[in-house]
Order: sequence, then structure tokens, then C-alpha cells
Amino acid sequence: MMPIPGSGLAKGLAVTLRTMTKRAHTAQYPEVQPELPPRTRGVIGLFEENCTVCMLCARECPDWCIYIDSHKETVPAATPGGRERSRNVLDRFAIDFSLCMYCGICIEVCPFDALFWSPEFEYAETDILELTHERDKLREWMWTVPAPPALDPAAEEPKEIAAARKAAEKAEAAAAAAAAAAAAEAAAPGTPAAPGTDTPTTPEADA
Ligand code: SF4
Ligand code: SF4
Repeated sequence: MMPIPGSGLAKGLAVTLRTMTKRAHTAQYPEVQPELPPRTRGVIGLFEENCTVCMLCARECPDWCIYIDSHKETVPAATPGGRERSRNVLDRFAIDFSLCMYCGICIEVCPFDALFWSPEFEYAETDILELTHERDKLREWMWTVPAPPALDPAAEEPKEIAAARKAAEKAEAAAAAAAAAAAAEAAAPGTPAAPGTDTPTTPEADA
């Protein structure tokens, strides 16, 4: 069937009329910063203190864009007659973001929670070599990593928090008891600090 002449123009105008009454979704970046979800995959931060140089991330990275150098150090025995230990010391940790495909595998496989996603994305460079971020830069990204989401209210309390809370409650109770005993002692010197405490007796008193 032959199209009616001018029907295409009418269709186009209909679309224009429909959309001109709707609100535009244009984001005025960079004047207005986008509101990104907290778990956005922007850049990777390194928490160096947690890294044991196990090399898992570098081995699992599909792009081979994580570069790690390290050396071994001998730690003297902690006790006389004990055994010396050796540990890995990190010399270099770098990620080439010109190769990275933001798959997140390195973060998933790190057994020591040393790598994290940061939503920061404004690190474009005019020189591709600048996209290899060394450990100092990766550490700086750590400060932009958002706090983990709160636990589900119905979730079981983690055992570390439960143990810490119990210890804090015990310490608080001991401090309160000590303060009460000191107050009682100050109010009536020479009287027993707490009920149930054995009263010292003298032979005269017994007689
Ligand atoms: S996000 Fe993926 S590609 Fe990028 S460094 Fe990690 S493992 Fe490699
Ligand atoms: S997997 Fe984690 S601990 Fe192991 S080298 Fe990579 S960042 Fe360090």
C-alpha cells in the first residue's frame, strides 16, 4: 500500500508535540553532578593494610591489568627459641584503568577485603599512561568509598558486634558498681560498702 503523502511529516510532528509537553531529562553535567547509586563501579580503591600480596586479584583479572611487585622479609621470632617467619612486603600495586573492564572480579576474589569500588568516575586523562594508577592514587580512592549498607533489621547480630557489646556492658556494670561503692563509702565512712559484706568483729564486741 502506498503511503499517504505527508504522513511521515505528520507522524514526526505528532512525536514532537507529544514530547514537547514532557519534562526534559537532560543532565547538565558537569555543572550538575549526577546522583549515582552508592555501589557504582567508578574506580577501584586499595586498602593497603589489608593486602597480604597473595596475588589472587592479579591472577584472576581477565585483562591482566593489575601489576604487583613485592619482596620477602624475615620477621624475627617473637619468643626465644621460636621460629623466624617470613612475610610479603608490597613494593608496587597498580591498576591500568585503560585496560580494566570494570568486571569486579578482583574485588570479589580478594580474600582480605583490600579492594573496594568507589563511585568516583572523573579521572579521564589526555595521556593514556596516566590511567595506570599506582598504590598512592589507589589509596586516595579509598577515602571516596561509601560506607557499607546497614544490616537488614531482621538480620542476626554479627557475633563480633555481640561479643563487643557484651564486653562493653560488663565493663559499664563494673564501673557503675565501683562508683556506687565509692559513693556509699564517702557517705558513711567505716560502714560496710554493700549489704551482705561481712562486718569485721572484735573480741570485745563478741563478749
Ligand atoms: S575490575 Fe576486572 S578488569 Fe578491572 S582490574 Fe579488576 S579484575 Fe581486572
Ligand atoms: S587479592 Fe587482595 S590481598 Fe591478594 S594481592 Fe590482591 S588486593 Fe592483595
